Amino acid sequence: MDSNRFSWIDKELLRLKKEGLYSPPKVIEATKGVYIKISGRKLINFCSNNYLGLADDKRLKLAVKKAIDEFGIGPAAVRTISGTTKLHTDLERKLAQFKKVNKVLTFQSGFAANLATIPAIVGEGDIIFSDELNHASIIDGCRLSKAEITRFSHCDFVDLERKLKRQKNSKRKLIVTDGVFSMDGDIAPLPHFVDLTQKYNCILMVDDAHGEGVLGKNGRGIVEYFNLHGKVDIEVGTMSKAFGVVGGYVAGSAQLIEWLTQRGRQFLFSSAMTIADTAACLEAIKILEKSDSLIKKLWNNTNYFKENMQIMGFDIGKSQTPIVPVLLGDAKKAFEFSKLLFERGVFAKAIGYPTVPPGKARIRVIISAAHSKSDLNKALRAFEEVGKIFKVI
Ligand SMILES: *Cc1c(COP(=O)(O)O)cnc(C)c1O
Repeated sequence: MDSNRFSWIDKELLRLKKEGLYSPPKVIEATKGVYIKISGRKLINFCSNNYLGLADDKRLKLAVKKAIDEFGIGPAAVRTISGTTKLHTDLERKLAQFKKVNKVLTFQSGFAANLATIPAIVGEGDIIFSDELNHASIIDGCRLSKAEITRFSHCDFVDLERKLKRQKNSKRKLIVTDGVFSMDGDIAPLPHFVDLTQKYNCILMVDDAHGEGVLGKNGRGIVEYFNLHGKVDIEVGTMSKAFGVVGGYVAGSAQLIEWLTQRGRQFLFSSAMTIADTAACLEAIKILEKSDSLIKKLWNNTNYFKENMQIMGFDIGKSQTPIVPVLLGDAKKAFEFSKLLFERGVFAKAIGYPTVPPGKARIRVIISAAHSKSDLNKALRAFEEVGKIFKVI
């Protein structure tokens, strides 16, 4: 690589480091439940999306081993050529039952599911109404579609209606929102969006990535939580969070799913989910269907942690879920704060721009059913000590 032509990269990286926005990944050397080892130090993990502790569940491991013996490791093809095994169709059937929809189509990830779906549904001449804090994969899906994009204020259905009124005559209209917002832990006002969808004849799409395994009966997600079955046209989901695996899906009508098998580019041109991931997801759903004990534990842990953080005086924003943003403002401060937590055995990474807006840096804690009371107490003590050092409480 010609060093002169790419010297701008060095400059940009240096700037990120100066502004405290450079975030290299930490390497995990070992994992056991919520305990991880980084740089030889044992830590409690407070920033993974492993809401239910399924990421190293014995039952999932066993299902994966069995499936690999039977089907091998990789599908070695896209779904339409020879990448569809019985495991894939079993998973799709099971997911459709779980989400109480007609049909489901799986993708390699939630990101891929959004990229595949939005451009298949809207295009030039159409208009998308997108929450200003939607996930990057929704934003990219919208851009790929070539439809006009109108952003509405975060969760603001009044602003959305104002914008819908101005567009009465455009062709297809898509309203798209995260279900649970991953950086703030607040929940989209989905019933209001359903009303607007009906009033203005729109298509409604919700990305339930952080709602699955967390909200609604047995963790069925946001549609179940608000009891809106049959009223949301497109649900995108991920199995990379509460399910503890990796994979994405779209849930909806048979017609929608059939269309995506013909027009979803990530379905047509990228290999199918691996055998291991597919088998693990299938097992995760079986576990959730059978019992809601993990979900109960998750919410007990969440309430305990949040109550105590608030009593201590931390600003944890408007979270309604196990996502707990500990708001600190300045990115450098958040990164230093995280470092001191690390020294106290608590792994909770700081998050700054561009993942959150400038000046809104935070430590994002995610509570898991796998945390014990003593893990939670240890974290609370660490937050108290470091919070006092930084004079934020
Ligand atoms: C995490 C997330 C995704 C991406 O899911 P992956 O399966 O990890 O690709 C998509 N949408 C939202 C809202 C998310 O939080």
